[in-house]
Amino acid sequence: MKKIAVVTGATRGIGLAISQKLSQDGFFIVGISRADNQEANDSWVNSLSNDCRLFKCDVTSLLAVEEMIAKISELEGSVHLLVNNAGITSDSFFHKMSLESWRSVIDTNLNSLFYITQPIYKIMKENGGGKIINISSVNGQKGQAGQVNYSSSKAGVHGFTMALAQEGARSNILVNTISPGYTNTEMMKNIRVDILQGIKDNIPLGRLAEPKEIANVASFLASDCCSYITGANIPVNGGLFIG
Ligand code: NDP
Repeated sequence: MKKIAVVTGATRGIGLAISQKLSQDGFFIVGISRADNQEANDSWVNSLSNDCRLFKCDVTSLLAVEEMIAKISELEGSVHLLVNNAGITSDSFFHKMSLESWRSVIDTNLNSLFYITQPIYKIMKENGGGKIINISSVNGQKGQAGQVNYSSSKAGVHGFTMALAQEGARSNILVNTISPGYTNTEMMKNIRVDILQGIKDNIPLGRLAEPKEIANVASFLASDCCSYITGANIPVNGGLFIG
């Protein structure tokens, strides 16, 4: 029986590293990607070690998510794992922040968790268990100037984890958060060089995380070695925030 892991935001950055690592671990990866980039999609499929499928879906659209869940239900195998990884930033100081910027970040980073997780959680309940990993951020833990929208969404992600972990426990569904620190992906490419240097200078380990370092933690949480951790928020931030 195939063990299916659904990974959102699968073709780039942290989602790509998580897809690759979980594929090495033996999961059948169902990747969710918003972009219709054939080259990126082919390269994602070719970079995995196991069978996989990639579905196009904008996670902010309930209709698109429902269509995607219907396709997943037709696959052979059972959904063991969901990784809610898709996320965006839209930074500005709060006094200049547009409603559109607020809404797009909350829609993508938080409302999508309701759309995607609820149907998969129901499938897991029927199957007798499963695991959910939500990708938050160090800036959801400590707040970050210029990111009132993002920090709110990511703090919300861990609130979601803590509450659902309590509900899911009786159905053997473990729910955890990973909170990465600054990680070497396209999300960091828009940051000015001098600001980026300032960020690195502030990190006790003196560098950004590599996506693989986040994926290794996801791999542990997804594995049978992790059987008694639920509702936790695992920081992977080089010591930037020690709460
Ligand atoms: P990237 O910008 O490299 O990738 C973001 C991914 O999210 C892409 O695959 C993108 O899909 C997907 N995505 C965005 N919006 C949507 C949408 N509406 N529907 C479907 N997919 C969507 O980001 P990272 O890999 O850096 O970030 C991954 C996660 O880690 C995010 O939740 C982020 O907030 C979090 N994080 C990142 C940190 C960092 O420093 N990089 C630090 C802390 C947390 P597509 O390619 O199709 O556009």
